Amino acid sequence: MPRYRSFLFPEASVGAESLTLDARESHHLVRVLRAKVGETVAVLDGAGACYLGRIAEANGKAVRVDVDSVERAPLQKPQVTLLQSIPKGKTMDIILRMATEIGAARVQPVFTDQGEMLIKGERLLSKVAKWRLTMIESCKQCGVSYLPELAAPLALSDWLAAHLSAGGRVSPPAAAFPGGRVSPPAAAFPRGRVSPPAADAASATGCAGILRVVASLEAGSRPLREVLEAAGAVDEVVVAVGPEGDFTPAEYVALSEAGFLPVRLGANVLRAETAAAYILSVVDQCSRKA
Ligand code: SAM
Repeated sequence: MPRYRSFLFPEASVGAESLTLDARESHHLVRVLRAKVGETVAVLDGAGACYLGRIAEANGKAVRVDVDSVERAPLQKPQVTLLQSIPKGKTMDIILRMATEIGAARVQPVFTDQGEMLIKGERLLSKVAKWRLTMIESCKQCGVSYLPELAAPLALSDWLAAHLSAGGRVSPPAAAFPGGRVSPPAAAFPRGRVSPPAADAASATGCAGILRVVASLEAGSRPLREVLEAAGAVDEVVVAVGPEGDFTPAEYVALSEAGFLPVRLGANVLRAETAAAYILSVVDQCSRKA
């Protein structure tokens, strides 16, 4: 087990038998962690490779590592995308850290009506750069082989429009529901809100093996495990999670029209970050073999 973990930023260089870390990682290893020549290190490239070796030169600006072996992790299946409404404050950092730890393949941050206000330009770029670093830190800390792709944030409506026009529309008629099931009467649910149109798991995978689910407190959402089991093996799962103020009823309808099946995450109302960790963990447990 290597003593340290480091990350291979694009500024690093990889030779036949050794690699040289970039200035940031070198500084961290030598000045912060006080790593010494001869100590072992695992260098993750975030794309499945892990270089195992020993520190040959402990220079605070450019650490050189003699590589003994390279391990390659297989791509996980299904690939899981977290479509996350950007919550206010620092919650997104927590969500990205946990999504990386649990093994999401991709995170698509989206602006929604009751989440973080739409931000653009430099402010958005610097936020995204900070988020990316948070994910890299999480990768290093937990030995994650694949750094999740962090897609450029955009409005939920734009993401849905792009995916519907790309042929991703899966919105089966209510009759396709198992046993012709329709949403139970609102009175049966304490929250009593209008539920989006019903769709079943088998129909939602009709889109090239993609299952889309939205964590929903609305009446008519089904237990997540039940929906995953009904879907069987899929190539990709897209999970949508709302902000602290929840998705609006109109957003739930739009998600449903894009083939997202509403799923319930237990009996309690979870905070947005807990809901993201919960749904990613259950998908990981129920859908992945290893
Ligand atoms: N403001 C809402 C309320 O008071 O009812 C709660 C929103 S919750 C903090 C944030 C998001 O987490 C929701 O939009 C939903 O996607 C998800 N969520 C939380 N608990 C859930 C549960 N038990 N089942 C399904 N989704 C849940």
